Amino acid sequence: MKVVEFRYLGGNEVPANWRGILSNVAYRYGGELLNTSSIEVKSFNRLERKDTYNVIGIMKGEIEPDRYIVIGNHRDAWSLGSVDPTSGTATMLEITRVLGEMYKNGFRPRRSLMFCSWGAEEYGLIGSIEYIQEYVKVLGARIVSYMNLDIAVNGAYYVNIKSSPVLFDAIVKAAKMVPSAYDPDGQTVYDKWMKVHRNDITNEPKIAFGLGSASDYFGFDQIVGSSNYDATYTFNRAEHKNLSSYALYHTSYEVFSLVKKFIDPDFLAHQSMGQLTGVLALILSESPILPLNISRYAFTLKEIVNSLNTSNPNDLDPLRDAINEFSQVANEFVERSKSMDIENPYEIRLYNDQLLQLERAFLNPLGQGPNDSDMKHIIYAPSKTSTYATLGFPGITDAIVNGIRTEIVNQIAIATFFIRGASSTLKEFDKFIAT
Ligand SMILES: [Zn+2]
Repeated sequence: MKVVEFRYLGGNEVPANWRGILSNVAYRYGGELLNTSSIEVKSFNRLERKDTYNVIGIMKGEIEPDRYIVIGNHRDAWSLGSVDPTSGTATMLEITRVLGEMYKNGFRPRRSLMFCSWGAEEYGLIGSIEYIQEYVKVLGARIVSYMNLDIAVNGAYYVNIKSSPVLFDAIVKAAKMVPSAYDPDGQTVYDKWMKVHRNDITNEPKIAFGLGSASDYFGFDQIVGSSNYDATYTFNRAEHKNLSSYALYHTSYEVFSLVKKFIDPDFLAHQSMGQLTGVLALILSESPILPLNISRYAFTLKEIVNSLNTSNPNDLDPLRDAINEFSQVANEFVERSKSMDIENPYEIRLYNDQLLQLERAFLNPLGQGPNDSDMKHIIYAPSKTSTYATLGFPGITDAIVNGIRTEIVNQIAIATFFIRGASSTLKEFDKFIAT
């Protein structure tokens, strides 16, 4: 038990730092409290030891059993958890049911499909991180993509997606094949997405690149180094700009009737999420050449570096040079696929292994320092100035916030080193050495 005392002198509107984020609500206290100058808040916590379990299922791939496409979600909840995480669990179980039917009818995936139900996510991503740490060598060498569900449905309007840049095209392809929930026949998830959340410059749907630390994708991003995805069927966010999440997030009101009455009455958004994630898993497991578009990374890196504001812009020159080289090598790599003998399984495997290694090449074994050694992704990781979200080049971003020139130059050097390393993984096998 912990007693916290807040002191506030006079008035009946609560102090600014006690208020929630609803702009049209006046946060007040009243009744007996009106003449009170201090409020005592008691919180009751117990320190207990509990067992928790991960439940893992694998459908073995027929041609490349040692490459995994992983779908996962946590199973624990703060309270009853009908949205977080059960909307994700229901979606994942439906995907396994459909794939199980396909299996009975003779379907065998090319690559292995894995399904993970994690324990104790809310307590600090315990289940997924323990699993990853135990099998890091196997998973680091073999996973193509981890697809996270968690809050799969908190609204029924459109799909909001976060992913690695290389998955962009495969996600768009899947979205074009899946009907949009509660919309007229023929309208796809992609059509709705373009209507609601479009990048007007590129005329493509918007995806947030980089995932963060808010769910079980964290360990896959930062320790495994696979190219990952997280999606939520959500409400009209443009209409509710002040809401960072759904109103009853993590409360005891997360019960079945909340979903049935208010969020997804006919469970069509759940259906679309299952179809979208299932189709994407199959695109990733069945395409002989892995559908990872590395040109997206080249483009995104340029965007990120242009968004960095250093007081001395020349400091960024080495990083810009490295990104330009990466871009050129990426183009050559994509060109090479056009003359590839797709009847030759060895040639395909060589090419796929290079694709697989790209995201891994962005992992700095030292992380962001001795206290943040698990934050290994040099492009997408939570930074000290924003732990929950991800910004591009977190090390550089933090250094800029701190304003110390030597630190900025040092972080730029680290990023440059890893971008050059990534370029070398894409080069022809006799040409990776710098001349
Ligand atoms: Zn959750």
